[in-house]
Amino acid sequence: MTDATLRRLQQTGCDVRADRLTRILFATDASIYQIEPEGAAFPRSAQEASAVISAAIDAELSITPRGAGTSLVGNAIGDGLIVDFSRHNRGISELDLEKRSVRVGAGVVLDQLNNFLKPHGFCFGPDVATSSRATIGGMIANNSSGARAPFYGTTADHVLATEIVLADGRIAKIGSQGSPLEGERAQIERLLCQQSAEMAERWPPGMIKRWPGYGLKRFLRSPQNLNEILAGSEGTL
Ligand SMILES: Cc1cc2nc3c(=O)[nH]c(=O)nc-3n(C[C@H](O)[C@H](O)[C@H](O)COP(=O)(O)OP(=O)(O)OC[C@H]3O[C@@H](n4cnc5c(N)ncnc54)[C@H](O)[C@@H]3O)c2cc1C
Repeated sequence: MTDATLRRLQQTGCDVRADRLTRILFATDASIYQIEPEGAAFPRSAQEASAVISAAIDAELSITPRGAGTSLVGNAIGDGLIVDFSRHNRGISELDLEKRSVRVGAGVVLDQLNNFLKPHGFCFGPDVATSSRATIGGMIANNSSGARAPFYGTTADHVLATEIVLADGRIAKIGSQGSPLEGERAQIERLLCQQSAEMAERWPPGMIKRWPGYGLKRFLRSPQNLNEILAGSEGTL
């Protein structure tokens, strides 16, 4: 990217780097692919992520969110700006043992969460094999699961609410209690209802995890909850 673009991105207050080492480091993930990005950003909060994403969109850079980069299909690499949520955003708070809920940052690693929960007799059900690296943000975006999926389901089944940054920089909280994105939600629901007969025909009942593609069927079961379609969207929404 040009020096002027880098300055504009850095003026948002977010840590943004475009040196050769950073670009090479973020050119790969656990896949066989390699794409050198223009740079990488390391937001510390949703506000910083929002500001840097808006600036990148203004500069016509594509955005690729990234956790630990353990994906196998090249979905954590891209030619624009990599937004790395794993360096910061590692806070765990608001543990509620009665409701069995906890608030975690997108960069929290699964093993870190399970170490936190263990003294309380709990663990996070979906047991992705890369638990020592995989971030909760990456697990939600991939709708990750592991050997215990038939019992515990997939990550999407355990997401109560998320704070998200949209491509236009808006920050919104979405979940089963609804969301401020009613226009977007209603539009998706309308489109899916038109296709519901074909979806019912293609996807047999009882399928725990369907890959690839958006969680359209999950969303139709619970159309108030945009998390159902966010989970598994691989950073594209
Ligand atoms: C040896 C090996 C074993 C594996 N085993 C399993 C397994 O058992 N089950 C399984 O499901 N997967 C498995 N995987 C794939 C991968 O490890 C998991 O899907 C993991 O949960 C991805 O997490 P991550 O933090 O590495 O995400 P990344 O690879 O960094 O990103 C994954 C996707 O999420 C998006 N993303 C990341 N963070 C965010 C964010 N904060 N906001 C929005 N989008 C975001 C990225 O753009 C990308 O599309 C395995 C991979 C390897 C290499």
